[in-house]
Amino acid sequence: MINTTNEPPLSTGLGDRLPELLAIYEDLHANPELSFQEVRTAAVISDHLKKNGWQVTDEVGGTGVVGVLSNGPGPVVLLRADMDALPVQEETGLPYASTATATDAEGNTVPVMHACGHDMHMTCLLGAAAQLSARHDEWSGTVVAVFQPAEEVGGAQGMIEDGFLDRFPRADICLAQHVQPAPVGLLGTRPGPIMLASDSLRVQLFGRGGHGATPELTVDPVVLAAAVVLRLQTVVSREIGTAQTAVVTVGALRAGLKENIIPDSAELLINIRTATQNVREKVLAAVERIIRAECLASAAPRDPEITHLYAFPATINDAEATVAVHNSLARAFGINHVLTMPSVLSGSEDFSIFGTALGAPSVFWLFGGTDPSEFAATDLAALLENGLPENVPVNHSPLYAPVPEPTIEIGTKALLSAAAYWLCP
Ligand code: ZN
Ligand code: ZN
Repeated sequence: MINTTNEPPLSTGLGDRLPELLAIYEDLHANPELSFQEVRTAAVISDHLKKNGWQVTDEVGGTGVVGVLSNGPGPVVLLRADMDALPVQEETGLPYASTATATDAEGNTVPVMHACGHDMHMTCLLGAAAQLSARHDEWSGTVVAVFQPAEEVGGAQGMIEDGFLDRFPRADICLAQHVQPAPVGLLGTRPGPIMLASDSLRVQLFGRGGHGATPELTVDPVVLAAAVVLRLQTVVSREIGTAQTAVVTVGALRAGLKENIIPDSAELLINIRTATQNVREKVLAAVERIIRAECLASAAPRDPEITHLYAFPATINDAEATVAVHNSLARAFGINHVLTMPSVLSGSEDFSIFGTALGAPSVFWLFGGTDPSEFAATDLAALLENGLPENVPVNHSPLYAPVPEPTIEIGTKALLSAAAYWLCP
């Protein structure tokens, strides 16, 4: 099925390692941990890296782990995997499905699942790390393996603030990958923007509470919140041109406890996705303007409180380095298995924080992890034109889990092939 034209660089002997990697993957999948709680996960990573001769630093930016393998003169290549799972109740029915629960940042007990595939990213990077030490006579340079905590809430910034730039060799190139609900064996990337910027806001709206029978004596924050939600729909439809990309979603609206009591406040959680800094600033300003104007329109007794929860920059691939990675992947997997993606994905990533902080180019690519039989159209052109079939589980779904074989092998070879462009003379 995989049209491997010839053995990709640094991959000799990987086949013998796959049973161990499969066991690591199933263990990580069965034992997921929420963002910034990846303590067990970090220990598994740390042990595996040390066993393979890597110099390991734990607790970088919280629960992050950084491995360094210095192997003579040459470029410094940063390979990054993310570590965290999500508060999702797993429904895959797999023998190694998670039954874990945890206490989230708000103190609630929640189910936990590797619903975004970060367990796959860690497994592939551990596989690549083991290969790099075993095949050290085939390359020259330094590799920095970054296991980053809390990708879902922007944990990369915490590693930078924990002295990442000064504590580890400065990378000349940053590489990372994400598993996708695409047929396994298919990979894709694109120069320039590949994923959108994401901003998350919490908005507290203030009214004046009272009896449900005498609304004239109150300022009803439920009506105010409803007006804000509806008016926010005009930001993208009325203020952003059709050539631009933006999404505004109100993911939570909370107010009140009982039908005959008008509460005194309401809370909104808002997510904003944009492709350029210009549009990002425009949308953020419009959202704030509308919230404040609706509070005025309702005669709210207090100004709203708008808190910026997370900000993920857009993920921008360096044009030249992306060509190098694309060609390396095409050599490893066959030219028909590596796509140039036609458009930017609406998901977001904090990976580009590393490249920006280091002043180094970065390249991010996607690799399929779903059984090809789930796709009616095996024809790539049809898949690109029609998008994913509705029945295929996507990242963050309780049903999402990549098929371990051959996804682990492909993801590991992809990291090695891309890194080899810089490491193998
Ligand atoms: Zn995710
Ligand atoms: Zn993810």
